[in-house]
Amino acid sequence: MEPTISTLIELRDALRRGELTSVAATQAMLDRIVAIDNTIRSYLTVTDEMALEMAATADRRRAEGEDTPLLGVPVAVKDLLCLAGAPTTAGSKILENFISPYNAHAVDRLIEAGAVILGKTNTDEFAMGSSTESSAFFTTRNPWDTERVPGGSSGGSAAAVAAGLAYGALGTDTGGSVRQPASFCGLVGMRPTYGRISRWGVIAYASSLDQVGPMGQTAADTAALLSVIAGYDPRDSTSLDTPVPDYEAALTGDIRGLRVGVPHEFFIEGIDTEVEAAVRAAIEQIARLGAEIIEISIPHTRYGLPIYYLIASAEAGANLARYDGTRFGERVTGSDVIDTVERTRALFGPEVKRRIMLGSYALSAGYYDQYYGRALKARELIRENFRQAFETVDVIAAPTCPTTAFKIGERVDDPLTMYLNDMLTLPLNLSTGCGLSTPCGFDSKGLPIGLQLIGGPLQEATILNVAHAYEQTQPRRKPELALGDIA
Ligand code: GLN
Repeated sequence: MEPTISTLIELRDALRRGELTSVAATQAMLDRIVAIDNTIRSYLTVTDEMALEMAATADRRRAEGEDTPLLGVPVAVKDLLCLAGAPTTAGSKILENFISPYNAHAVDRLIEAGAVILGKTNTDEFAMGSSTESSAFFTTRNPWDTERVPGGSSGGSAAAVAAGLAYGALGTDTGGSVRQPASFCGLVGMRPTYGRISRWGVIAYASSLDQVGPMGQTAADTAALLSVIAGYDPRDSTSLDTPVPDYEAALTGDIRGLRVGVPHEFFIEGIDTEVEAAVRAAIEQIARLGAEIIEISIPHTRYGLPIYYLIASAEAGANLARYDGTRFGERVTGSDVIDTVERTRALFGPEVKRRIMLGSYALSAGYYDQYYGRALKARELIRENFRQAFETVDVIAAPTCPTTAFKIGERVDDPLTMYLNDMLTLPLNLSTGCGLSTPCGFDSKGLPIGLQLIGGPLQEATILNVAHAYEQTQPRRKPELALGDIA
């Protein structure tokens, strides 16, 4: 067996059957990372020693007759989530030397489930971006075309899974940062309902929007990860204390009678025609599987972008105030306190500075009501749009992104064009449901296209089942082909 080409579920089953050990699977991944990741650059830190220790422990536990949901399965974690004893940089110079003393809740859950943590993946600085180009360290490359971005901000996690450098990964989705890179890299990636996964130990960007999300090669892989990381955590006051369903068991593949809404506002002007065609074909396929397709409207979709960038930047400005050189992260000592704070905060990259300035302006006296206050009210309109939509449909289907992966460097100097890429993912974050991206074919350049499936609050099992049912009708993706000249 070539461990690097199988799915998480296939590996888990092979480990259960004793066909290989976790140490062997982990070592194969680490070897592949050495061979390939100097080109893909998905990992900021490879925790190889820790991974091999975890793998050995997993093998020992299995030999003693134990079995846990991810026992011995090597996975990757976005560098926005704390991993005890390892660097947690958030893609920023200001946290370059920060070694986390504790695990994020989601990381703890992975480890309790027996997973092996291979390392920390690249991210746009503080998760602000859509391409990993704002990472202070380097840009990750898309395994389907290494001249293109993998998406962002969880681009390192997406590229690692797509390139066969992890069996699954965690990202975070504040405005689309799991779904968009999943779409660009041909994966399934989910933003669960806000509160489904604890934010404990996740470096804060915009606290009312941030949510951890799983990424996998298939709906079943994603479901397996979600089952492990979901659940109540008293350390996050917004964590939901509701039972966690068995997401894998929910993948029956039967979607007969399901009502699927298609919002015409999501097929915006400027959407790539190949993306639109692939998404519409996927929706037809879902209809053939017995779902009922209903045209719907989310009328305030077009306000999503300005509302999001006001709210997210305002919250970011507040959250990032803590990096002042006295309590967290780096300190660049200056002539006095003010000088020290200024020099330290100069370590932030241009995108982070842009957001802090925008956020501070939106919250400043005299402008608060005009910008932030209005954005909060407009957010309610979007929530209401979704709430009404879910009175008549069970799931919403739309494109994840207006385009496929763009070229590295193409949009860095044009923040607005970069932000427009999030047009179709942001509305969900401003509302309360869950959403995922699942592959639905390729454009003529051979780049993956993503179908976005959105569900109401806590409807993760439903959208995963639609993705699973659809996936069964599609040719199996072969990520090894993605490596082209590198493999
Ligand atoms: N691209 C969006 C932003 O820059 C979303 C990022 C995210 O979801 N973390 O804010």
